[in-house]
Amino acid sequence: MSEPRKQQAPGRDREGLKRAAFETVAVHAGGDPDVETGAVVPPIYAVSTYAQDSVGSPRSGYVYGRGSNPTRTRLEQRLAALEGGSFACAFSSGMAAEDAVFRALCRPGDEVLIPTDVYGGTYRLLDKVFSLWGLKYVPVSISDSNAVRLAIKPGVTRLIWCETPTNPLLNVADIRQLATVAHEAGTLLVVDNTFASPCLQQPLMLGADIAVHSTTKYIGGHSDVIGGATVTQSQDLDAAIRFHQNAAGAVPSPFDAWLVLRGSQTLAVRVNQQSDTALSLATEISKHPAVERVFYPGLDVHPGHQLASRQMRKYGGMISFTLAGGENAALQVCNSVKLFTLAESLGAVESLICHPLRMTHASAAGSSVAPPANLVRLSIGLEAFDDLASDLFVALDSVK
Ligand SMILES: *Cc1c(COP(=O)(O)O)cnc(C)c1O
Repeated sequence: MSEPRKQQAPGRDREGLKRAAFETVAVHAGGDPDVETGAVVPPIYAVSTYAQDSVGSPRSGYVYGRGSNPTRTRLEQRLAALEGGSFACAFSSGMAAEDAVFRALCRPGDEVLIPTDVYGGTYRLLDKVFSLWGLKYVPVSISDSNAVRLAIKPGVTRLIWCETPTNPLLNVADIRQLATVAHEAGTLLVVDNTFASPCLQQPLMLGADIAVHSTTKYIGGHSDVIGGATVTQSQDLDAAIRFHQNAAGAVPSPFDAWLVLRGSQTLAVRVNQQSDTALSLATEISKHPAVERVFYPGLDVHPGHQLASRQMRKYGGMISFTLAGGENAALQVCNSVKLFTLAESLGAVESLICHPLRMTHASAAGSSVAPPANLVRLSIGLEAFDDLASDLFVALDSVK
């Protein structure tokens, strides 16, 4: 993780942090001590409106809490810095962030390209909400940049929606290539970077136009808050999204913004550890006779392994695998683990297990983007490898 030593030492100000390593940015960006009191931890500004000194002269730019809030501003500064971007908008959920992107950038008659195994909530939003407003979606194999290029309809395809690694099949897409494909065709590349987190990959640095996050997951990291965000280098894209942040108002509460701020400070240590444990677990699970196939980009049998090795700093904390014994075996594994918690969501300190088809991706069941019925998904937390491995192996042994 260490960056080459720079001539000038990093400081805690915005300019200084541009020279700092990711771990340092995660702790300090947007986190200066409170100007009034010196409090080391940012205050939670529980407030809806701000006094004006005279009509039209708000004291420091803050007017009304839907539009902006100082705790949220700090979070937006942190998120922008984590992605190597210039602007971020924080939302009350990852879906609210996605909703704002589609509203801001798409118009009736437009099409968006989505991964064939896109996150279930994204599929539902497009299929059940935006299709009613004339926005079409086209599933495409996002790991195949050429297939994406061929699926673009000039003047109609408004954006390419990319997840990498995908949820739940951990397919890897080439962000740099997709950005080129998108820009050659005059469209935009949006990357849902929830799975990798900016600790492992920074899509904007690879040419993507917008990074989207469910901060509920790795960035928050403690299963205690729902949140979302968009990050971009473009002032125009940010302004378009920010307009909807205020106009539709799906903003995080000051306390929620504070929780994400706090969680994000340990992002690097958590994700590094989770990635190491996941790589060891994926390797072990592959050897178990009850397991049909393991989906983890860190394994050299994974079709995206080479690309992931170039594009990501590590391979992340998410593992999926199919069971030779079919759906019943998958359900039994989910139901018999004791240390893993059976729950939706991912990216937190405790390890979770889920059956995507019946849980996270139930809204895609029966569709072309439905996950396999014998698939189990793991989110690796911060427990010790040995404890997680023995819990999982007892469950796997029971379906042998
Ligand atoms: C969870 C998730 C979302 C949605 O985020 P919420 O915070 O639950 O609204 C979007 N994309 C991916 C990849 C996710 O895992």
